[in-house]
Amino acid sequence: MIGSMMRQELLISDLIVHAGKYHADTEIVSRETTGVINRTCWGEVAAASLKLASALETLGLERGDRIATLAWNNHRHLKIWFAVSGGGYVCHTLNPRLHPEQFVFICNDAGDRAIFFDKTFMPLIVATRSALKSMNTFICMGERDEDVLKAIPDAVFFDELIEMGKEDYAWPQLNEDTACSLCYTSGTTGSPKGVLYSHRSTLLHTFAISLPDSMALSSRETILPVVPMFHANAWGIPYAAAMTGAKLVMPGPGLDGDSLLGLIDSEKVSLALGVPTIWMLLLAAAAKSGSKMESLKRNVIGGSAAAPSMIATFRDKYGCDTIHAWGMTETSPLGTANLPKGKHSDLDADTRALLRHSQGRPPFGIDLRIVDDEGNILPHDGKAQGALQVKGHWVVDTYFGKDKSSLTEDGWFDTGDVSTIDADGYMTIRDRTKDIIKSGGEWISSVELENIAVSHPGLAMAAAIGASHPKWDERPIIIAVKREGQDPTEAEIVAHFEGKVAKWQIPDAVVFTDVIPLNATGKMLKNVLRDKFGHTLIDRGLA
Ligand code: ADP
Repeated sequence: MIGSMMRQELLISDLIVHAGKYHADTEIVSRETTGVINRTCWGEVAAASLKLASALETLGLERGDRIATLAWNNHRHLKIWFAVSGGGYVCHTLNPRLHPEQFVFICNDAGDRAIFFDKTFMPLIVATRSALKSMNTFICMGERDEDVLKAIPDAVFFDELIEMGKEDYAWPQLNEDTACSLCYTSGTTGSPKGVLYSHRSTLLHTFAISLPDSMALSSRETILPVVPMFHANAWGIPYAAAMTGAKLVMPGPGLDGDSLLGLIDSEKVSLALGVPTIWMLLLAAAAKSGSKMESLKRNVIGGSAAAPSMIATFRDKYGCDTIHAWGMTETSPLGTANLPKGKHSDLDADTRALLRHSQGRPPFGIDLRIVDDEGNILPHDGKAQGALQVKGHWVVDTYFGKDKSSLTEDGWFDTGDVSTIDADGYMTIRDRTKDIIKSGGEWISSVELENIAVSHPGLAMAAAIGASHPKWDERPIIIAVKREGQDPTEAEIVAHFEGKVAKWQIPDAVVFTDVIPLNATGKMLKNVLRDKFGHTLIDRGLA
């Protein structure tokens, strides 16, 4: 027997209709690329998205066409998201920090037909235009601009385009399995691969990330997504803010510590989200200015492991509760988030704090397992370590443009991460498969070594890599950036590991460097570090 309830497709346009109808006057604040602060509200964003969706029909695009964006987090970008997906096109967010060659590869692989761009990224478009095979509409996100026209004579302007739209346009009633957006993995190894989300997967993910044991979003929050909209869809925040009617603060290009701190204090941001490197900058700015970031009650750290020392600083110095989360482009991205369970409330503060270090538990809709090299399923006992596999409503099946599913025979996605899972479902990332340090057949977690290294007050940043060693195959070494004004010695850093890990896991060397190279989403480029420093022990005669 079939249930007899209403059937409504789960559509992205419904999110913006809801926000426009029930949270019309809730503010959307954004820093424009020019630095100016723009203030609008969900009501205006909803009306503008609808009009823009209608205007897109004048550009000769067809449903399902990929429309790219090359932009910071700002109000026009938000409107484009809802207009493109809601209108039945696919919104393809591009990372402006990509190498031009990779940028071209991704646009062509996606078959992008049109692109919305912030004026600041015009040089990238001009430099690559002749190589962009399917792209023939270039829309600058602003008013008519003679500089842009000089460089791109056929450019269209957002502010003019939107005026061509109809206010009484009706959102198309799509099938919920229709594709809505496309994101590429950052491709630290191999070519980037596209993940094509559907309206249904996105809406289910949006519900899940809003739940109290995920990010606990509501209309009482003021959310600052520092994570860019081109990094795994800003972790789904723009959709979830529309669903819950939260106030959004979009940082535009101002991702430095002082700019973020200014926005947090002036807009009274209660929740901010970003990768660890962003928080390092923010903490440094706050320490310098003396701001206590009073409004900031919670932050979400993901993308790379959050060091326990960073979680502790937010908690003890700023009264800010860090939610450590794990995910991937392939998982929309939320896979796990770390919040305590009811039974943990009686624990003493230190034990509770320790529990918050892991990457957390999956929300309903995501299932996790770990397997060994032969594919045997390992126990969830907090000790067994294996390849992390995931399954769920918002997990990729087949990469964009590929015929073959990427899943295991029994339908799981292999994440490329190595982890443990405890009996309560808390998952700890030990490493990425390719970054784990293999010393004499034993595995050493580079994440664990990095967490210890950065807990030394003299270090700002640290990467642990395996350096070649004739006897042990690899031995751990630390590549470290000193904190401003500090001058720790190699021996001090090595000594800092004593008693914190088994003796044989203590790094053999520490190399100080000025910068650690980061990829386009702010992750440490370990492959570059391995190329540069992988011979350190042999060169120094330590091996
Ligand atoms: P890419 O794999 O191309 O860098 P993603 O941004 O999708 O693109 O990265 C996903 C990966 O980032 C995960 O597989 C994991 O290795 C890492 N990651 C994400 N969140 C965390 C976290 N909280 N702790 C440790 N690693 C993380």
